[in-house]
Amino acid sequence: DVQLSNRVNSIKPSPTLAVTNRAAVLRAEGKDIIGLGAGEPDFDTPEHIKAAATKAIQDGFTKYTAVDGTPALKQAIIAKFERENGFTYEANQILVSSGGKQSFFNLSLALLNPGDEVVIPAPYWVSYPDMVLVAEGKPVIITTTQEQRFKITPEQLDAAITDKTRLVVLNSPSNPSGVAYTLEELKALGEVLKKYPNVLVATDDMYEHILFTGQPFVNILNACPELYERTIVLNGVSKAYSMTGWRIGYAAGPAKLIGAMKKIQSQSTSNPNSIAQVAAQAALDGPQDCIEMMVNAFKQRHDYVVKSLNEIEGVNCIEADGTFYAFPSFHQVIESRPEFEDDIALAEFLLQEAGVALVPGSAFGAPGNMRLSFATSLSVLEAAIERIKAALEK
Ligand code: PLP
Repeated sequence: DVQLSNRVNSIKPSPTLAVTNRAAVLRAEGKDIIGLGAGEPDFDTPEHIKAAATKAIQDGFTKYTAVDGTPALKQAIIAKFERENGFTYEANQILVSSGGKQSFFNLSLALLNPGDEVVIPAPYWVSYPDMVLVAEGKPVIITTTQEQRFKITPEQLDAAITDKTRLVVLNSPSNPSGVAYTLEELKALGEVLKKYPNVLVATDDMYEHILFTGQPFVNILNACPELYERTIVLNGVSKAYSMTGWRIGYAAGPAKLIGAMKKIQSQSTSNPNSIAQVAAQAALDGPQDCIEMMVNAFKQRHDYVVKSLNEIEGVNCIEADGTFYAFPSFHQVIESRPEFEDDIALAEFLLQEAGVALVPGSAFGAPGNMRLSFATSLSVLEAAIERIKAALEK
């Protein structure tokens, strides 16, 4: 029997990928399953991006690149930050990685010593706590309620920070809640952070472009530019350009920290895929109207999903500000029916009885809610919600 490390025993496989796999297994058995678990846009990668990659292959751009990304892609990222966010970076402040997931992984390994605390607001992206655990850090979870729109208050943030805190993670718009912080709210959080000069902030802006509010995207640096020296901005092309399979994410921040993250990457995966880097450059430098087309579709589906979920007895869903997720509360359903012990039992019931795969909120640190991805066509969403309704009313 192989003895495994404490490190690997301290973490669990990604629950969102697990739901997707479970749906695939049931489907292979011949069951008719609608998968609303996946965290990726259903659109194809735009043509001009694919064309750039095809050309890169033909041009023989198929060898190692610089560990931290090609100079051309890094320039495209620097230009993106200037153009869209008003932030200025030098090339040594940028690290390109194999997806946003690796960016956060590098950050955890480069920053944390055993026992260092990382403040993570729940509901959170499933990977933050586990990646902190891999780095032997300690996730400190702030819980929120639907009444507060799943957003932390300055008082909650202040109470969570200790002298062991190294990092605070913000993700807006949020996976899974879909809510985004306003500039005012971020200013108030920034006031708290200013009191703790040793605490770094990671802002995960992966869903920056998938925003329905009509307001411009803002993050903690827009609200509080004084935090520039200790903020790390995480972003990538996966969600905005429907490029999840290409695996390109990037981080920007203090040169010393970025250099340390690069060192970790240099001894693990080296450079991200050379062809995907060319594609990512085409995405960032090219026409941006492909984003608008996708966001319009997500908004239309969002409106349908929220309205129709709220028509199911015992289900309560707030409007999201962005992303392609709804995060309805099933608390009343679970509390009123003894056969459902918790959201995991309910998710299993919906998978078996309705043939619909949703991710239970407990995976995101918010038990009693469920994440429904609406990155699929309206007709599939209609069928799924009909089935959920029928199964619960049976
Ligand atoms: N951050 C958030 C909030 C996400 O939801 C995801 C993907 O699900 C990522 C980062 C990582 O994206 P990727 O590694 O596919 O670039």
